This record gives sequence, C-alpha cells and structure tokens, in this order.
Amino acid sequence: MNFEINKLLQEKIIPFEFVVKNTDLNDIEGELDEHGALVCGTIEKLSKGNFLVTFTIEMTMIFPCARCLEPTPIDCLYDYTDTVTVEDDEAILDLLPVVEECIYINEPFRVLCSEDCAGLCPKCGNNLNHEQCECDKFGDYDPRFEALKNLL
Ligand SMILES: [Zn+2]
Ligand SMILES: [Zn+2]
Repeated sequence: MNFEINKLLQEKIIPFEFVVKNTDLNDIEGELDEHGALVCGTIEKLSKGNFLVTFTIEMTMIFPCARCLEPTPIDCLYDYTDTVTVEDDEAILDLLPVVEECIYINEPFRVLCSEDCAGLCPKCGNNLNHEQCECDKFGDYDPRFEALKNLL
C-alpha cells in the first residue's frame, strides 16, 4: 500500500494490486471476511506532487442485519478515482487512507439478511426468523400491569 514517491516520479503510470485485511481498517461499519479486500488499480503522475489514483475494490463485507442482527455477508465492488496530493517532504504515498475512505463513503447504510426478515421479538429478543416465541399469544401482556388488572 506504500509507494515511494521517487519511484512514482520515474514512471508515467504504475499499476498495483494489494489486499487489505480487516485489521488494517478502523473507521468502517462492516467487517471484511477472511479474504480481505482486493484493491486493483493505477497511479498516474499528473504533475509534481499530484497523482491520479484509480482503483476498484472487490470484497465481501459482513454487516449485522438491521432487524435481527444476524451477520449478513454482502458482495461489494466499488470504483474510486481521485487526485492525491503529496507534500514536498513526504517520501511515501500510502493508499490505505484512500482505500478506507472509498469503503466508508460507499458502504450500505442499512443491510437486511433478507427482504422479509421478521426481526427480533421486541419483548424477549427471540429471533423470529428461526422460531416463534410465545409472546404474541398474550397480546399486550405485561406482568407489571397484571396486579392492576386483578384490582378492576
Ligand atoms: Zn434479519
Ligand atoms: Zn418473544
């Protein structure tokens, strides 16, 4: 993920390919699966200190389902193109922050394990996709009010 600026200045376009692991990333919601993210692209020298960075990221990310919290894998393919400016005194161009930004701005806001996920029981927390709990049968039963009902 690190490129020596000196070497970059000698070439017009440099192709690259590297894998980012989940442990390399801090600011994203999802979690990469064990294969990590494959980042494939080029760095092109535009002018002194300015590089055009273009890449695609291919990966499987795991998000908790928004309704039942079940870990849900999502296949992601993101494109990124931007100009990266490097200060005079920097010797290394590190693409990891750029990769992280690309994932951060693209990752899905709300993931469902399936369109018709039944979610969790609001009373007992049971996952209703796997089994029905008894809570429904009692309607709005709440043990805290049972004593009051007996008084009526
Ligand atoms: Zn779900
Ligand atoms: Zn329940």
